[in-house]
Amino acid sequence: MSEAPDCIFCKIRDGAAPCFKVYEDGETLAFMDIMPQARGHALVVSKEHAADLFALSAEAAAACARTVKIVAHALRKVVSPQGVMIAQLNGRAAGQTVFHYHVHIIPRQEGEPLALHAAKPGNMEEIKALGARIAAEVEPVA
Ligand code: 5GP
Ligand code: ZN
Repeated sequence: MSEAPDCIFCKIRDGAAPCFKVYEDGETLAFMDIMPQARGHALVVSKEHAADLFALSAEAAAACARTVKIVAHALRKVVSPQGVMIAQLNGRAAGQTVFHYHVHIIPRQEGEPLALHAAKPGNMEEIKALGARIAAEVEPVA
């Protein structure tokens, strides 16, 4: 399925690079961000390689929105944040660094500043454990 051989998210989708997976279906994959901006930061990625929202099919966009909802519910059960930020960046000017469509799910706590974007690797053992707990809470959302 890889249309972009150097794309890290295509590699993760194809199992050629590792990830801490929390959810997968036919059109989407969700896994933990390894440079989290907050504890529990997760990503939802379209299986279709598209650089951004503008290149993405409407079907894949809809599938990602559904997966965001599924994963956000599971993440909220595990992390108990006061708020949840959903973000999606298009183009360098918007801060995009990986040019394969994805949506950020970032738990927020009152008064806790966001860590810098895509800047510093988190604690991999903690991210792995959190990812496993979130994966265990995933259930279909009506
Ligand atoms: P963007 O800047 O494109 O909106 O976000 C890319 C996100 O991907 C960043 O939050 C960054 O931390 C994350 N990221 C970059 N490389 C990897 C990787 O190899 N694995 C995972 N799990 N996340 C990555
Ligand atoms: Zn890709």
